[in-house]
Amino acid sequence: MALKSAIEWTDATWNPVTGCTKISPGCAHCYAEAITLRFRRGPAFLPGQAVIKTHDDRLRLPLSWKDPRRIFVNSMSDLFHEEVSLEFIQKVFQVMEQAERHTFQILTKRHERLEAIAGELAWPDNVWMGVSVENQYWADRRIPLLAKVPAAVRFLSVEPLLKPVDLSRHLENIDWVVVGGESGPKARGLQEEWVRKIRDDCLQADVSFFFKQWGGRTSKAGGRTLDGRIWDQMPAVKTSTKKAGWDNPLRGSLSASSR
Ligand code: SF4
Repeated sequence: MALKSAIEWTDATWNPVTGCTKISPGCAHCYAEAITLRFRRGPAFLPGQAVIKTHDDRLRLPLSWKDPRRIFVNSMSDLFHEEVSLEFIQKVFQVMEQAERHTFQILTKRHERLEAIAGELAWPDNVWMGVSVENQYWADRRIPLLAKVPAAVRFLSVEPLLKPVDLSRHLENIDWVVVGGESGPKARGLQEEWVRKIRDDCLQADVSFFFKQWGGRTSKAGGRTLDGRIWDQMPAVKTSTKKAGWDNPLRGSLSASSR
């Protein structure tokens, strides 16, 4: 839990859930796993010992933070992990709705669970919802489901970018795209033209583009300049599609297996 975060696109982190399990190639060098192992914060990521833990005692923390912040929800887990109950996720959404001075940024790789329960969640205007994208395979599966979710801001975290990705056919209902290369001792590199292509697709589609880092041995090693400048566009804040009268097509779609 951090009042300040080193992540360029957020101000603070809030972890009402800890622990996770790997689900796609972007997880290979998971930051949360590295932190857990380095600081011996329990068995959350040790082989065969994954422990997904919900923390009721952390739920009200953002309500105690007086100054408005952008808050990254669950930097150490995935809120939509199948082992996190719907009831707990609803509690997290209730806190976010109460803490209206803050902006909450949620990121998931569990796009199917997100779609399945989105109709059971409140979606206040201060909640931004995103999916991770590391290659074309996951772009084609995660983004169409995110696009159905009635969040005020929908975003993509294209990090770590592992292969060239064509986002051009997916940007219609997306407000913000963040791109970054991997960092750490085993960082998998990315190429300039992959980043440039995504930036150009975003500019063409009028989608805000944020380039977080080139990556390398450390997150700051390669800097974050692309074509001579920093790209740190943020999405325009708007009223959620739900509150604007959009009928949520997901309502009632909850199935027992998705809880
Ligand atoms: S979903 Fe996120 S937190 Fe979970 S293992 Fe993958 S990278 Fe780590």
